[in-house]
Amino acid sequence: MTYILAGATLIDGNGGEPLADAAVVIRGERIAWAGAASQLPAEFQDAKRYDISGKWLLPGLIDAHIHICYNGADSVFTLLEKSRDALVLEAVDICKRTLRQGVTTIRDVGGERYIEMSLRDAIRRGFIEGPRMKLSGRVISMTGGHAHFIAREADGPDEMRKAAREQIKAGADLVKLMATGGSATPGQDIHASQLTVAEISAVTEVAHMMGRTVAAHCHGTGGIRNCMLGGVDSIEHGTYLNEETADMMVERGASLVLTVGVGNPDLQSYALSPVQQADAERRKPMIEQGVKQIRKTIALARSKGVFLGCGTDAGGNPLAPHNFAMARELELLVENDLTALEAISIGTRNNAKILRWDEEIGTVDAGKYADLLLLNSSPLADIRNLRDIAAVFKGGRKV
Ligand SMILES: [Zn+2]
Repeated sequence: MTYILAGATLIDGNGGEPLADAAVVIRGERIAWAGAASQLPAEFQDAKRYDISGKWLLPGLIDAHIHICYNGADSVFTLLEKSRDALVLEAVDICKRTLRQGVTTIRDVGGERYIEMSLRDAIRRGFIEGPRMKLSGRVISMTGGHAHFIAREADGPDEMRKAAREQIKAGADLVKLMATGGSATPGQDIHASQLTVAEISAVTEVAHMMGRTVAAHCHGTGGIRNCMLGGVDSIEHGTYLNEETADMMVERGASLVLTVGVGNPDLQSYALSPVQQADAERRKPMIEQGVKQIRKTIALARSKGVFLGCGTDAGGNPLAPHNFAMARELELLVENDLTALEAISIGTRNNAKILRWDEEIGTVDAGKYADLLLLNSSPLADIRNLRDIAAVFKGGRKV
């Protein structure tokens, strides 16, 4: 079936000025044509036309850093005690909610019992509703490393290679490493490097041989440096980026996936459970410091021209709910002095590139999947209007 969405203002994700009175032609799952309604080619003139004037049309958002198997409300230790069935059923709901919040693609960078793989495949086959997915399977950490309780622990290049190959064997689209400490793991120093260059290189070698990218959790500068020397494709969080490591990232074409929201949890908009209150209390000094630091990091990365993506880390700790997390992430980018248009391009086109999926998704261009977010009000006037959703389309079908 071919139909036309006509009359909206189009933000196509490529970063240019919005196009008023646009038309987007959808044929089957894909975009057949996009441009000014007045230029609509004759071949589409007879297609069914939906008038969406007054609304704003964007590419579906892409969350480049999420944990779909964890609810972002309970402690991970509580979640680990739950049965697989209980986790699956909740994750099915999280998938549905994520899509309905305008996120049409996600990159899961740390799953649980490979549930995320079943979710990805079930969504692909149309059994359940959810975003397109790329995923890493289990994270790989050193023995006792960040998030070791959910990780495949490995030490030394040989074991790291094996750990990476295990994830790929299970169905991973990318490999996720823990290269520094993290604040979600009690008692860790976020500045401490946790993998050697040799260990990182062993993983990137085998992952790249099999066409997979490698993403690495890094806060401390030393971890970022090790990852650049070891050939990592994307730095996740990147909190303590400095001039030297920013230059290394640019030279190597590596990406920085910011996760501003997880370092600055939204403690006002909902009632916190006792577990969440305790976590907020424990992380308070880290959060205060982190919010100031990430402002510097974003400014530095932009001045150096580091390729930026972003993700929510929703599910990653008890203060990271799957509740408009991606909208909030883009709101926080705007608070950190990006324009709304830049934030939207990072959350769509740039993230598609980081997922190595930019041929298929990320912008409103002919040939790509018709993954679209339709808003009632302008996200450029107020980025919070990303929550004012009129409709979400995935593969040409209204969700
Ligand atoms: Zn994470």
